[in-house]
Amino acid sequence: MAGVDSMNRLRAVMLGPPGSGKGTQAALISARGGVPAISTGDMLRQAVAEGSSLGVRVKEILDAGRLVDDEKMADVIERRLAAKDAETGFLLDGYPRTIGQAGTLDRILEQRSQELDLVILVEVPEDELIRRALARQRTDDTEDVIRKRLSVYREQTAPLVDHYRSRGLLKAVDGDQSIDEVQADIQDLLSVRA
Ligand code: AMP
Repeated sequence: MAGVDSMNRLRAVMLGPPGSGKGTQAALISARGGVPAISTGDMLRQAVAEGSSLGVRVKEILDAGRLVDDEKMADVIERRLAAKDAETGFLLDGYPRTIGQAGTLDRILEQRSQELDLVILVEVPEDELIRRALARQRTDDTEDVIRKRLSVYREQTAPLVDHYRSRGLLKAVDGDQSIDEVQADIQDLLSVRA
């Protein structure tokens, strides 16, 4: 079980729309519990910044707020999860984002005789998401791209909510609170599992 003492074997997914704060929350859980927070968005942005062959291939897709195809992402996540620090646990932020990617994650874990422990859904109303995204002012955060990302989330990622709920893995937290309040709710949820 993944309680406070055994957080380093927590295998969890953070699910939520862009701007929900799931990345911030994942980093806080990681700092407390010792599991690596793995952000595929950060990995892709880094690849773009480095100008690697992956970066060159995905730059336009990131700029447009669309999703990188499942096949490329399978390669990215499989390599990352094979790293030593992810052997006993991980917290995924931004993966899976499609039902196909959820299948890939299942396959990777099955090969390792492992299972997903938990999916944490961070819920935030859409108008608040747009407000936050505009305030963040990243170069790729124009209002058009924000709206595109939200529609991609609704169409391709939101189906994962029911997918994981039906497997009994989903726990939702109210993301429309302060960072500390959301973190406290997530810690409660993790300690219930102790
Ligand atoms: P994020 O920082 O998680 O919002 O990701 C930034 C961008 O990277 C997304 O808008 C996508 O273009 C791309 N990306 C990140 N993770 C994935 C994924 N699992 N599947 C497809 N594209 C992704």
